[in-house]
Amino acid sequence: MAKMRACRTCHYLTTEDQCPNCKGTSLSTSYTGIVVVLPGKSPLDDPRKSSYIAARLNIDKPGKYALKVR
Ligand SMILES: [Zn+2]
Repeated sequence: MAKMRACRTCHYLTTEDQCPNCKGTSLSTSYTGIVVVLPGKSPLDDPRKSSYIAARLNIDKPGKYALKVR
């Protein structure tokens, strides 16, 4: 499995050269902690409404995110 990199803008974890979430290209291999935001009953549900962590990290889409990006 390829090493995942974390987007500096939205903290999304990806193996691509571009963040599929915000299309940013500023990716970092240096991050700590992984947060997995699971989808709600409806795919259109905003995770920030039901998850304290999603609200704190301002995550509006389910997926894998880094807790801290350096
Ligand atoms: Zn991003």
